[in-house]
Amino acid sequence: MTMLPMESPKKLGLVIDLDICVGCHACAVNCKEWNTGGYGNALSDQAPYGEDPAGTWLNRIHSFEAIPFDDAGNAAPQDARIVHFPKSCLHCDDAPCVTVCPTGASYKRAEDGIVLVNEDACIGCGLCAWSCAYGAREMDAEAGVMKKCTLCVDRIYNDNLPEEDRVPACVKSCPASARHFGDLADPTSDVSVMVAERGGIDLMPEQGNRPVNKYLPPRPKSGTQACGAGREEELSLVKMADTPKADGFVGWLDSALSKLG
Ligand code: SF4
Ligand code: SF4
Ligand code: SF4
Repeated sequence: MTMLPMESPKKLGLVIDLDICVGCHACAVNCKEWNTGGYGNALSDQAPYGEDPAGTWLNRIHSFEAIPFDDAGNAAPQDARIVHFPKSCLHCDDAPCVTVCPTGASYKRAEDGIVLVNEDACIGCGLCAWSCAYGAREMDAEAGVMKKCTLCVDRIYNDNLPEEDRVPACVKSCPASARHFGDLADPTSDVSVMVAERGGIDLMPEQGNRPVNKYLPPRPKSGTQACGAGREEELSLVKMADTPKADGFVGWLDSALSKLG
């Protein structure tokens, strides 16, 4: 078992705006490119041009067609809505992927809260992946070690880069400005203000992992019958997912997004 550090004074993380993300995958592609040439071993691919390609990606985009339901749980006669959901490690404060690790390879940094893997100490047992409710870890089939989002630790403190490039590769590449990076422990930071103003949420808070990353929920669209026309309040993914049917990350998300009515 690996110990977590005391609560860090700094909590670096991402804020992702689900109202703005257009599902272009630029963040995932740039993540793969940067992390294949950076901090750890290359992120391998298996049969990339074959019938069943596979590979290691630290950031993946799930796209959902959300069909509104009425209060009785029946499909409502409204337009469906596409919601794109980027997913990577949330750098949880109470990270079970760290405490479950038998070798100390998984660890959370005391100085800024980033969760990392020391690949030299990783035995590829996969326990951390099983413990992560978000499916945010990736076993690299070629290297035989666990990989995960590093929050581009080799960019954000890199004095060799121009200051404007010292942000995670996914943030730098997002053409829609749907991704934001900053210190979520500082209530005056841009990301914290954004979370407070837009009602940013934790993913699956019932898991008790206290993720640092936050998501900004989709806003009701005006002028259409779909997705809360006439409603002024922000939609709450947490309230929407408050159902006994939600099961696991995808179930929780599916349950939340299906109630965008
Ligand atoms: S999202 Fe998963 S991999 Fe990342 S810190 Fe939380 S439990 Fe660990
Ligand atoms: S796969 Fe590696 S990082 Fe994950 S629990 Fe096992 S030793 Fe730790
Ligand atoms: S780059 Fe931005 S808009 Fe494109 S999928 Fe990623 S978060 Fe969404």
